[in-house]
Amino acid sequence: MSSASSSSGRCRRRVVLLRQPSREEDYEPPRRYCNHRMVASRWMAWTDGNPGQRFYGCPLYNQDGTCGFFAWHDNEFGKRAKTMIKELLDDIDKLYDENCSLRIASHGHRVGEELDSIHGELRELKRRNELYDREVRKGKNKFKLAMTLLLFTFVWLCVLYVKM
Ligand SMILES: [Zn+2]
Repeated sequence: MSSASSSSGRCRRRVVLLRQPSREEDYEPPRRYCNHRMVASRWMAWTDGNPGQRFYGCPLYNQDGTCGFFAWHDNEFGKRAKTMIKELLDDIDKLYDENCSLRIASHGHRVGEELDSIHGELRELKRRNELYDREVRKGKNKFKLAMTLLLFTFVWLCVLYVKM
C-alpha cells in the first residue's frame, strides 16, 4: 500500500516537528538578554543528549542573523531521567504511528462507503436512462404508426381521385 507508507511518512515528520526546540516567550524573571540586547527566548531542547532541558537563546536561534547567544536554564538531568524521557518520546512516536495507521484505515473505510453510494447512484441513473430510452422508443413507434396511417390514407385518397 504505497499511499499508506507515504501518509505514515507525513506522520513521522510531525513527530520530528514535536522534537524541534519549543520556544517560551514569557518566563519568570530574571530576563536574559542576547548579544543583540534583545530579550532571549527560553527554549526546550529535544535532542537525545539533552531531552527536556531548557536553555536561553537569541530570539533568532537557528535562523539567519542569530548572535549565537546560548545559556542553559536547567542543570543537566541525570542519566536515569534522560533515559526515561527518551523512552517516553519513543512511546509518543509509536502512538503517532498507530494513530496515523488508524486514521488511514478509517479513511479507507469512508472512501469505501462513498464508493458504494456512488455505485448506488450510478445504478439508479442507469435504470432511469433505460426507462427514458423505452419511453423514447415508444414515442418513435407511435410516430411511425401515425406516418404509416397518413401514407396509407394519402395513397387511398390518390386511388379514389384517379378512379373519379
Ligand atoms: Zn541575539
